[in-house]
Amino acid sequence: MTTPFAKVTHVILDLDGTLINTEQLVDEVVSAVLHKRGDFTASRVRKAMEHVRGMRPGDGTRAVMDLLEITDVSVDALLAETSALLDARWGEVSMMPGARRLLDHLHVHGVKTALATSTPAAFLAKKMLSHDGWVERLSVVATGDEVENGKPKPDIFLLAAERLGVDPRTCVVLEDTPLGVKAAKAAGAFAIAIPSIHDDFAAYEDAGADQTIRSLYDLDLSLWGLPPFRDRVDVALAAPSDTKADGNDGVSDAFVESVLPLRPAVRLGGPVVRGFGRGSKTLGIPTANLDVAPIKKESDALAPGIYFGWAGLRGNANDANDSRGDGEAPIENVIAPMVMSIGWNPFFDNATKTVEPWLLRDFGKDGDFYGRELRLAVLGYVRPEADFASLEALVERIHRDADVARGALAMERFEGGKEDPYLKFVD
Ligand code: ADP
Ligand code: MG
Repeated sequence: MTTPFAKVTHVILDLDGTLINTEQLVDEVVSAVLHKRGDFTASRVRKAMEHVRGMRPGDGTRAVMDLLEITDVSVDALLAETSALLDARWGEVSMMPGARRLLDHLHVHGVKTALATSTPAAFLAKKMLSHDGWVERLSVVATGDEVENGKPKPDIFLLAAERLGVDPRTCVVLEDTPLGVKAAKAAGAFAIAIPSIHDDFAAYEDAGADQTIRSLYDLDLSLWGLPPFRDRVDVALAAPSDTKADGNDGVSDAFVESVLPLRPAVRLGGPVVRGFGRGSKTLGIPTANLDVAPIKKESDALAPGIYFGWAGLRGNANDANDSRGDGEAPIENVIAPMVMSIGWNPFFDNATKTVEPWLLRDFGKDGDFYGRELRLAVLGYVRPEADFASLEALVERIHRDADVARGALAMERFEGGKEDPYLKFVD
């Protein structure tokens, strides 16, 4: 990381993929349109789209057509086709996890902000229709149609800084694409990458990012001399779950960890499905997987990472179809503390998240949840996903996450979450 950051006074924000969650919708729509134009493999189309991520719509369309050698239609016609489809669906787009918190925080502290988006002004209004007026709270806006050259050229960030009335070197840019990072660096600004391309973090480093973070939850404004967030909550741990001395495994033995409360809590649920048989159960850390397709919106409200909260698991006391032998006691509904991971599943062609809670209770003979309805009230964020050098280090970290979850859920502010009617199957 380049230091020092203390001279940063202004924040410049990219829109798509950074503040609003448009990337998946755009990918879906654009790839469907492209596939109609030729017999391309899914991975070729995806690579072409990742190559242009961050560009203005016209520039991106032209570049994708070049890459895929599409010649039977004009750039304008293809752009018109995708725009019409997208215009009908912008309402589906929600904010990126942590974006609302960031905007509110910057606003409250009077930090001047610019939106620097590749989106042309005419599209911006349509895109933001379902977003209640936060764009108006930003200090200035610079749109793709106002500059000569799109990202990776610096024009849009130079214009944003000019409108803020400051030297770009006093600005930090938040960007989700390598092209955007390149543009920010070319403008002389600092750049924080929050990757929307999850399998190629190196591209952000190559683009010159001063820092790469996994999501806006992990943004540490104090590093940049900006007013820090004060909403994380310290959780005192009874004792580290590993009693051995701190080795070189990268896991700290501190007795306090902080968590980020989610406001509002995120509720999601569904029947427990089979996971990937990675043997979590044999490691003593079973995770009850949920099918994410039906809860896409709710799970997208959470950045990849580790969370804690309360779980409600439906019993079979009222289940007329109970197929177990007579005389067996019915299984009651259960409410249990849980620690959960949400992450990207690299096995799927289209990136989708997996949602996997570990219920922090020993279920003994009642420990088969498959097909039972599980509901989760997710109350707080613990940490981003991380790579581990060894399986032992991973398991140790998961146990520590469980300790953090237990500690947090014992605190008054999170304990009450188990009274959430959503978890009680009152319906
Ligand atoms: P899978 O790959 O199918 O998810 P795991 O090895 O992760 O298998 O084990 C998860 C399964 O273990 C759950 O679906 C559930 O049936 C069972 N299970 C038993 N106890 C627990 C628990 N405390 N938390 C989560 N799942 C549990
Ligand atoms: Mg599992």
